[in-house]
Amino acid sequence: MKPWLIEKFRASFGRAPHWIARAPGRIEFIGNHTDYNGGPVLGAAIDRGVWVGLALRDDGQRRFASDQLSEVVALPADRMKKQAGAAAWVNYPLGVLAALPEFSLRAPAGFDYLAMSDLPVGAGLSSSAAIELASGLAFLAATAQQPSREILVKVGKHAENHFVGVPCGILDQGVSGFGKKDHLVFIDCRGPRFETVPLPGGAHFWIFNTHTKHALVDGLYAARHRECMEAAQALSVGLLVETNPAALLVAERKFSPIVFKRARHIVEEIARVSATVAALRVGDLAAVGKLLTASHRSSQMWFENSTPELDFLVTTLTSQPAVFGARLTGGGFGGAVMALTSVAFGDDEANLVAAAYAEKFGAAPDILHAQTGDGAELFTP
Ligand code: ADP
Ligand code: MG
Repeated sequence: MKPWLIEKFRASFGRAPHWIARAPGRIEFIGNHTDYNGGPVLGAAIDRGVWVGLALRDDGQRRFASDQLSEVVALPADRMKKQAGAAAWVNYPLGVLAALPEFSLRAPAGFDYLAMSDLPVGAGLSSSAAIELASGLAFLAATAQQPSREILVKVGKHAENHFVGVPCGILDQGVSGFGKKDHLVFIDCRGPRFETVPLPGGAHFWIFNTHTKHALVDGLYAARHRECMEAAQALSVGLLVETNPAALLVAERKFSPIVFKRARHIVEEIARVSATVAALRVGDLAAVGKLLTASHRSSQMWFENSTPELDFLVTTLTSQPAVFGARLTGGGFGGAVMALTSVAFGDDEANLVAAAYAEKFGAAPDILHAQTGDGAELFTP
């Protein structure tokens, strides 16, 4: 079982792993910037992810290896300092180890650890959540602890927020933890509460990663966050999830034009997530696709977190008959576009889209064809 992982583990540490865990990457399906407004979001775990192999050591040494780097990072178990430079990737498993006691869980002391992945890193598919959840599952198995999936998800998010220092919402870890083949994961971010929703058969995902990123992206996220909170305040609600599109329109004069546009995107996006769940329940992929594209147009017009590159991809993709819909996926201001397609959309169609993009923008996007996959799981070798 997983011969390549066992082989690489042997090559790194001279023995086989005792525990093997895997967690998937994810796609933000719909629900753009809804999380910090208390709204819902739908994500899909994909059939690619990060694998972690682990074996305990009794000398209190922790040795970390990865398929991304040739060097093994060695740290004594009592050294929990954040790492920099080439060793910085170790902050993900270290962050998980540091998070465990926050949830009254024990961390293993010494071990040999290997991470391997078939998920592109930094492509907006959340390899970070995947490595956190796979690490968490392996560490917990090695210490004979079996917390709930909710706790595993929270441990991963805690590691990313507090140790790595990335203020991500619950989507990444929630979908990696609760994903299920042929399903989407619905997250009510207020709970958080997790649920799976069946994805009708014959749906395919194509991701086009532009590798573009707005230079001021952190500041732009912060500005959007601020504008959303300002809108909630003007409506005398705690978060925008507590209002609805009709109430917002009636109150338009209470806002500056910019704040109104931002609020409109969020409030209508929240309604689109609910409409998407309803369309999925009746198996109407055409209706789902329309909602995805509407989400993108709302990003473009109201939230202004799209870019000419992303708009071009969405327009080109949605002119193809086998594409149900397309939208930017993730925070925006660059990054990737996701298309929901039928099986009739294949490599030829994807390459045509990429070629048209390259002609206009000078470089081709990366193309990834994915399907849904299962959430984090533990294997015994
Ligand atoms: P994303 O989550 O979109 O892929 P991030 O920047 O949040 O991008 O996380 C990517 C980081 O996660 C990498 O830079 C690396 O530190 C870590 N990582 C992911 N997969 C692996 C792996 N197989 N081995 C080592 N580190 C990994
Ligand atoms: Mg990440």
